[in-house]
Amino acid sequence: MLNNQPLVSLVGAGPGDPDLLTVKALRLIQNAGVIVYDRLVSQEILDLIPTGTQLIYVGKATGQHHMGQDDINELLCKLAKKNRHIVRLKGGDPFIFGRGSEEAQYLKKHKVAFEYVPGITAAAACSAYAGIPLTHRGIARSVRLITGHCKSDQPLELNWNSLADTQTTLVFYMGLANLTQLREELIKAGLPPGTPAAAIENGTKDAQRRCISTLNELPVAINAMQIKAPAIIIIGEVVNFADELDWFTPGDQIDNEYQQHVEN
Ligand code: SAH
Repeated sequence: MLNNQPLVSLVGAGPGDPDLLTVKALRLIQNAGVIVYDRLVSQEILDLIPTGTQLIYVGKATGQHHMGQDDINELLCKLAKKNRHIVRLKGGDPFIFGRGSEEAQYLKKHKVAFEYVPGITAAAACSAYAGIPLTHRGIARSVRLITGHCKSDQPLELNWNSLADTQTTLVFYMGLANLTQLREELIKAGLPPGTPAAAIENGTKDAQRRCISTLNELPVAINAMQIKAPAIIIIGEVVNFADELDWFTPGDQIDNEYQQHVEN
């Protein structure tokens, strides 16, 4: 509540690991009257919400009806007009492929106060948990966050020439469905087929899986591992760090000789 006025907090929940919530996000979800949330908000995060809080799910569920964006906008307004503090909880960051800005525009138009609480977006979180730095001095000096999603019967229209830069790391959100086209267009635009490429499924969660390959081979490698959404795709030389800098994949991370050296 803002001076007793209705307030909608557009809150980023981060990529799934509850430890990656911001302190502000945690405080807000623990004090909200109503929480309107999406499919990408993890169960572990929902478990942090006190019982008694009204929870409204507006994400997609296979085979079931889900709310369209217009319905969600309207719902937020309606709830806020009842003079309650609403938390609109979204996976990652609400303003990065999260339609948070569309909701903010609608709220603004209907004179409902809103605040924006950034969350850790999938590109930052999944790369970190996969041991892939998005930039590295001398290797990658820029990053592009790109949506690989388009309307079902249409081809993906991107400025491919501008993406084909060996010193830029490309991060595709929602890229699995159009991966074959993505690979073809990038190679046609001049990105070497051997450019390192990775897919990270369920990033930051215990179930995280990494598929490390090359641009040319990525569709086959993803298929072999049966990688499913949510997954992001990272293309660029920085993917070469994935083995050296991996710290999260369970297993033998520390060299035995080093371990003995530390113990002695
Ligand atoms: N607002 C979100 C993105 C929503 S779009 C954010 O800032 O992260 C949904 C896409 O995000 C998914 O299709 C996937 O590409 C990516 N994504 C979100 N969470 C992810 C996760 N834990 N692991 C891998 N990809 C994820």
